[in-house]
Amino acid sequence: MIELSGIHRYFQVGEQTVNALNGIDLSVHRGEYVSVMGPSGSGKSTLLNIIALLDQPSSGHYRLNGKDVTQQSDDELARIRRDNIGFVFQFFHLIPRLTAAENIEMPLILAGIDSKQRKQRVRQALLSVNLLDRAEHRPNQLSGGQLQRIAIARAMIMQPPMLLADEPTGNLDSKAGLEIIDLLERLNQAGVTLIVITHDQNIGARAQRQIRIVDGVIADCRSMV
Ligand code: ADP
Ligand code: MG
Repeated sequence: MIELSGIHRYFQVGEQTVNALNGIDLSVHRGEYVSVMGPSGSGKSTLLNIIALLDQPSSGHYRLNGKDVTQQSDDELARIRRDNIGFVFQFFHLIPRLTAAENIEMPLILAGIDSKQRKQRVRQALLSVNLLDRAEHRPNQLSGGQLQRIAIARAMIMQPPMLLADEPTGNLDSKAGLEIIDLLERLNQAGVTLIVITHDQNIGARAQRQIRIVDGVIADCRSMV
């Protein structure tokens, strides 16, 4: 479903050009579970942001479900993203003044889904991450692990076929981190394509395929079959 070929991403910072990605070729099939590892600054987040359509490559091609998505309008990109991609961040990115339930509901509101259906789906989502009893809590009233479970529920509320996670356990203790990985893996077992960036070797090793990025290129790729 994901096909990247010859992806480069340069950033111009004043006089300096940063080559964040230097020719990435990568295919990820529907239902796969891929981990991405590599040193800090090696281009992992830049790559995931491009896959998530949050950023565009400087050159190269990205085909998603057979369609070239490197030359689309912003509106079209937003639509493709909404229908296809869930994204989870290291620092959760929940909206502080909204409750857990309201945060999960937000993508449904943006998609124009009616109130009755929204309430049902949010309730189901809260149940699926085992946080029904925290529906009315605001982010500052929740633990890190709970915040990430809410963020995952929000990412999955539109039922996208793929979920991308940028160091989803990077800000959690090991117990909460394992709960998050369990939750992500359950989604993958239910058919969701899963790509996880991690610093943690033990977590990375759980994926079917492990990709290592160094200086903006794929240095190593290992599969467990
Ligand atoms: P990683 O996630 O592997 O730590 P990143 O993808 O965040 O690495 O960054 C790769 C390189 O690109 C780094 O050198 C970083 O400083 C640079 N970079 C990332 N985003 C930007 C940006 N928006 N502007 C300028 N440089 C950036
Ligand atoms: Mg990063």
